[in-house]
Amino acid sequence: MVECSLCGREAVVELNYNGFSLCEGCFVRQFERRVRKALRLAGFFKRGARVLVGVSGGKDSAALLSVLAKFNSRVGAVLLPVLVDEGIDGYRNKARVTAEKLCASLDLELNVYSFRDLFGFGLDEVEGLDSARDACAFCGVWRRWVLNKAAVDLHADAVVVGHNADDVGQSFLMNLLRNSSSVLSRSGLESGGVKGLFVPRFKPLAFNLERESAIYCFLRDIPFYLGGCPYYAGFRVGIKDFLNEVEGVYPGSKFALSKASFEVQKALPSDKRRVFKCSKCGFSSSSDVCMACSLRDEVGVLFKKG
Ligand SMILES: [Zn+2]
Ligand SMILES: [Zn+2]
Repeated sequence: MVECSLCGREAVVELNYNGFSLCEGCFVRQFERRVRKALRLAGFFKRGARVLVGVSGGKDSAALLSVLAKFNSRVGAVLLPVLVDEGIDGYRNKARVTAEKLCASLDLELNVYSFRDLFGFGLDEVEGLDSARDACAFCGVWRRWVLNKAAVDLHADAVVVGHNADDVGQSFLMNLLRNSSSVLSRSGLESGGVKGLFVPRFKPLAFNLERESAIYCFLRDIPFYLGGCPYYAGFRVGIKDFLNEVEGVYPGSKFALSKASFEVQKALPSDKRRVFKCSKCGFSSSSDVCMACSLRDEVGVLFKKG
C-alpha cells in the first residue's frame, strides 16, 4: 500500500509535480484549499453577493459549482448556474442533461441561454458555412458575450468560470506566441468589470490542474459529462498537446507557467485602452461595434450568400 504523504492513510492519488501521494481526504482538502485561496484573493464571494457560475456539464465547472455550493452554506451568497447552449447536437444537449442533474442534486436551478434563442442559429449551422474562421473562433467570443448578457439579466455581481491552471497556462503561451501584450495585462485571476457594460469575471480553479478537477469529481461522486466538443480545433489544441508533453517530461511546468502568467500580469501596466459601449448590443467593446456583434453580422452575410 502506498501511504498518504500527509497522514499515512492509503493514498489514492499520485502528484508528479511535488512527489506527493495523497489519500482521498487530503486530496479533497488540498483542492478546496486552493479554491478558497483564489476566492480570498478575488474577494467577491460574500453574503448576499449574486454569483453567476458558468456551467457546461464538464468536470471543471462541475467541480467549481460543487465546491462553491459546499462553501456557500457558510457564506450565504446567491449562486446562479448558467449553461450556454451553443447548439451543438450530440454534445451540448447531452452535457446539459448532466448539468441539470448536478444542479438538482445541489438544489440549484440551471439557467440556460442558447445561441439559437439569442441569435437565431446555433454552432451547427455556422459550422456548415463557408467561412475562413473555424467554429471555435465564433464560439469563444459568443460564449463570453452570452455569459455577460446572462450576468446583466440576472443582476449578478460576479461571473465565475471553471478555467483551471492548464487553461491559464495555455492562454498565456498563446498570447505570448501571438504577441498579444494587451491581452496579457488582462489575463490574471480576474477580468476586470466595467460598470453596466461588463460584469467582472473570475477563475477560482486557477490553482488546480485540469486533471485534479477530474479527480475531485470522481472522489466526491460529482456527475460530469466526459464527451468532447466535435468542433474543438485550432491553435489551443496544439498548445494543449505541447504542454501535456512538457509536463510529462518536466512535472510542475504547468503550475510554473500559470504562476508566470499571474506574475507577468501583475508587472504589466493595466490596460488603459478606452472601453466603448457597443452601438448594437450595448455591452463593452474595444471599438464602436463589439466582436460578438461583428461576428454575428459576418455570419448573417454568409447565410444570405448560402
Ligand atoms: Zn491523507
Ligand atoms: Zn455588441
